[in-house]
Amino acid sequence: MKSKLFFFILIILLIIPAPTESHAAMDDITVRDVVVVIDPGHGGENMGEENTEMLEKERNLITAQAMAAELSKYEGIQVYLTRNDDVDMSLKERAEFAAGVKADLLISVHYNASVDHEVFGAEIWIPSAPPFHGVGYGFGRCWTEQMGKMGLHLRGIKTRLGNKGDYYGIIREAAALGMPAVILEHCHVDVESDSVYADTEEKMQAFGREDAQAVARYFGLKNSVTGEDHGSEKVTPADGVMMYPLNDSTEPDECILNIVSKNEETGEVTFRIDAADNDEALEYFDYSTDGGQSYTRLSVWPGYSVDKNENEKSASFTIMLPREKDSTVTARVYNRYDLKTESEAVNIHFLYQDELKKAEEADEEQRKKAALAWEAEHDGGEAAYIGFPAEEDEHVDITAVYPVNTEEEMPQNPAPDRGWVILCMVAAAAVAVLVPVMLILLIARTRFRRRQTKLAKALEVSAETPKSNVRHGKKKEYSEI
Ligand SMILES: [Zn+2]
Repeated sequence: MKSKLFFFILIILLIIPAPTESHAAMDDITVRDVVVVIDPGHGGENMGEENTEMLEKERNLITAQAMAAELSKYEGIQVYLTRNDDVDMSLKERAEFAAGVKADLLISVHYNASVDHEVFGAEIWIPSAPPFHGVGYGFGRCWTEQMGKMGLHLRGIKTRLGNKGDYYGIIREAAALGMPAVILEHCHVDVESDSVYADTEEKMQAFGREDAQAVARYFGLKNSVTGEDHGSEKVTPADGVMMYPLNDSTEPDECILNIVSKNEETGEVTFRIDAADNDEALEYFDYSTDGGQSYTRLSVWPGYSVDKNENEKSASFTIMLPREKDSTVTARVYNRYDLKTESEAVNIHFLYQDELKKAEEADEEQRKKAALAWEAEHDGGEAAYIGFPAEEDEHVDITAVYPVNTEEEMPQNPAPDRGWVILCMVAAAAVAVLVPVMLILLIARTRFRRRQTKLAKALEVSAETPKSNVRHGKKKEYSEI
């Protein structure tokens, strides 16, 4: 009997296969509750981002608590928070707490900011290596879809490598304890286009509800309050090929700026940026019209998608350039890891032709008005034009010659001609010298003629006396006169 019983037990044991470790793990999740640990990032002395209206550690707690409250409405899930107060906690302590409750997923909740306060959008950091990479990527897909529904730009489902494996401590510490962890960076609170999503407590709580929705979809949970069942959406993690490079540490390889069209009349110029990153997709671009001193806000590169690692080869933009001024335009392109490459500068100069013509016509009108005003104030019409520029000299600034409508600055009488004055003075001097000389000459001439008459009479008398007497007598005769 004993031997029969022994064989019976042996056969039973052989028929019922011993459960493998993997089966045990899968069954474990289906039969027992899913365990999710929510980690409000930072806390205590560790503020996180602290240059906006609210400290990041506070924002994180508000969102994490709202997420936990929402998930508590679902069946088949146990939810824990690493901290429910403003306390210090190391990354290792957070991971150890999650491992202690046998978490299926550790979710660290954060808000983002960048050094240059330029990039925007939501992103999720996941484990870089199997076996947890697939969990991170599967959950990342659910979460980015929820963020996309809110209207946020989706930066990506990313990995980052450091010296010891994953760069981010919470992901590295959790992996070391045999558990997947992800970091949610909801939006960039230092950029206006993103901060509007998190500027009230209610909005930060709304983020938490979206996070909970992503968890419910990933694990296929049913909401016991609303009856909403996500069973059909349950994601089976697969460690497939990574969509993005694990860690892109090089800038985009190409960024060339060209002028596509230029409107001389309006000043409108269209540029095209031809760019590429040989490792991955381009995410943003911006440009400068002052030689790189200041840049526009970032624009999303055409064709950028969280699901693709490639996109368009070029982007274009149209701007109005300042009139009659040199402009130096440059552009920059950014990859998914916020590394950027700047183009060579493009110099452009042109006049707004129509405005230039209008300005010339206005100048001409002004010139005519000034001339008429001057004429009206002076009797001699001819004098009005003295000093005005010649008709053909269009570019002389009229107001610089005679200020328009400024009586006190107008010369009230034209200045006398200096040539005339000199001529008059010379004439007066000549008259003063010539008149006395003429008088002297006239007197001398009269006296001379009188003497000649007397001499002639004397010669008539001597002709009647003998010749010998004439010679001696001549003297004598003269002395007698
Ligand atoms: Zn943070």
